[in-house]
Amino acid sequence: MDMGLKGKSALVTAASKGIGRASAAGLLAEGARVVICARDLEELEQTRAELMSHEGEVNSFVADVSDPDQLKKLHAYVVEKYGSIDILINNAGGPPPGGHQDLDDKAWQDAFNLTVQSAIRLTNLVLPSMKNAGWGRIVNISSYSVRQPMDNMMLSNSLRLSVLGWAKTLANEVAPHGILVNTVCPGWTNTHRVASLLEARSSAEGITTEEARAMIAQNVPLGRLAEADEIANMVVFLASNAASYVTGVAVPVDGGISRVV
Ligand code: NAD
Repeated sequence: MDMGLKGKSALVTAASKGIGRASAAGLLAEGARVVICARDLEELEQTRAELMSHEGEVNSFVADVSDPDQLKKLHAYVVEKYGSIDILINNAGGPPPGGHQDLDDKAWQDAFNLTVQSAIRLTNLVLPSMKNAGWGRIVNISSYSVRQPMDNMMLSNSLRLSVLGWAKTLANEVAPHGILVNTVCPGWTNTHRVASLLEARSSAEGITTEEARAMIAQNVPLGRLAEADEIANMVVFLASNAASYVTGVAVPVDGGISRVV
């Protein structure tokens, strides 16, 4: 299958670790030029060095995606490096857990900036050049919880659905310009984030992290957690020419854990 990604310019946000990093690696492997961003310079530079040691062109820029000024600077950096952005992968850290009694106005506003506004702001910055080019790919990283909300994840359950509504509406608006907008909804995936969750659960419940992992895996029809590159495979496909007739969808990559058709 010709992915048509050789020489394309891509921006992957929140990519020093986990699914973002794996998505950057997947795009690089297909010959794209990639800029990665995250908040921590040291981690970002280490990831950049590791990705560069495989092959391809990787650049990096420190930015917090919940800050509109930093997004403008990030966008300007990519334009300076590559002239324009063909592919935007909107990723961010997940919003904190909590139920209705735990969340004040500030918690909602911060999570809105992180989960919703980050994607909208950056997308609005890249759309003009994608329209000029008559080609573009926007891929949002979400969660399987958009299909089956998770207890005590009020912010994530609410705001990720907002992103889906925005993405579907935008997909129809920009389709005439050759721009595709899609969302990937991962299930439980072995990343840094999940390693911390497993450690917290193992100390809270007096079990090993492997036992904590097995408790999650027993609810997954495929019987295990995903590896980050299994999520990235879908991201790369949706970013490619091979996905030329796919837009406005939210694709679960969750081992079957969401029990809806
Ligand atoms: P991770 O913790 O392994 O990596 C997160 C990355 O985002 C890191 O590079 C971190 O530095 C960066 N980051 C966090 N906040 C940022 C910010 N404000 N600005 C810039 N960079 C930022 O996480 P992950 O597991 O790869 O998760 C990525 C996304 O996928 C999250 O939104 C998460 O909620 C979602 N998700 C993860 C899983 C899973 O099981 N891992 C499942 C469903 C959804």
